[in-house]
Amino acid sequence: MSAMPILNATPPIAPLTGVAAELQGLIDEQYALHVGNADGVLADYIPELAKVPPDQFAIAMATYQGQIFSAGDTGVEFTIQSVSKVFTFAMLLEIAGRAETYRAVNVQPSADPFNAILLDPKNNRPFNPMVNAGAIAVAGRLRQDLGKSAFDEVLKTFERAAGRKLEVDDAVFQSERDTGHRNRAIGHLLRAVDVFDVPVDEVLDLYFRQCSIKVTAIDLAVMGATLANLGTNPLTADDVFHLDATRDTLSIMFTCGMYDGAGDWSINVGLPAKSGVGGGIMGVVNRQAGIGVFSPRLDENGNSVRGKFSCMGLAEQIGLHAFDPTNPGSTYLRRLTAPRR
Ligand code: GLN
Repeated sequence: MSAMPILNATPPIAPLTGVAAELQGLIDEQYALHVGNADGVLADYIPELAKVPPDQFAIAMATYQGQIFSAGDTGVEFTIQSVSKVFTFAMLLEIAGRAETYRAVNVQPSADPFNAILLDPKNNRPFNPMVNAGAIAVAGRLRQDLGKSAFDEVLKTFERAAGRKLEVDDAVFQSERDTGHRNRAIGHLLRAVDVFDVPVDEVLDLYFRQCSIKVTAIDLAVMGATLANLGTNPLTADDVFHLDATRDTLSIMFTCGMYDGAGDWSINVGLPAKSGVGGGIMGVVNRQAGIGVFSPRLDENGNSVRGKFSCMGLAEQIGLHAFDPTNPGSTYLRRLTAPRR
């Protein structure tokens, strides 16, 4: 890949003033409010994830103009897991086009767990690209269209969205490859109904590898900001995704990104978002900012507990809910970037 700036994953060193200081203060406040919450459990069905120090916690926000605010363990890398589904889905939309993509996967929320071995009886397709079956269908189509270079393309796209070089956590990858029998079953089911016609093992290899890419909370915030910024990374000005792919992706994140928690999330947080069992949550404030939160203990839906509460708190404090007209709106974010008079 051509030279890519390595971003300094730390908040600005100069003291913050004005609205930037207020925003940083609100993020610090959410951190302090939730850091003591030890509810939830690690995703121990992937043995390697059971070894992650459970107390780690980070909150980050990146604006569409590339300012970064953060608190906690922002330098800690964790595996992206299901947040990856957002970006492989956007890739497939671009590579295969809308019609082909929606021949492989539906766009309906499902009331089943993320790892359900289940297809929509209507047409034998996965319910949506945010559950495992949908993401494995997407991986299958990417593997089919891109051949053996599929993973390199996925990694390159994730790097462009994050604005820095990323690596795979080999131990987590091996661990999931050795134990991911449910996902393998889903892969065979999809192969049986002709969603893709490449070897199931190669598709699963791609899926497990994409889930094992390591990111920080700041990376998730920047990747979210790339989607918020109409597909252009605000730090590198790289046009990573087209507008159409970005729009469909955000829509499906809104309805399906938080699995069974999606309904509660939509009324309480009101942002398109995606969680992963590594403990990451990525939220998108359309046209304004990305949010990245990391805390590995999960609730019964597989969503990070402290991640969920801190997103809820931030949305409330900053006024981020997409459909709340009485809210100050994202006044903070607007003031932050308002032209000087
Ligand atoms: N790799 C994980 C799995 O397939 C991803 C699930 C998730 O993050 N919800 O089980």
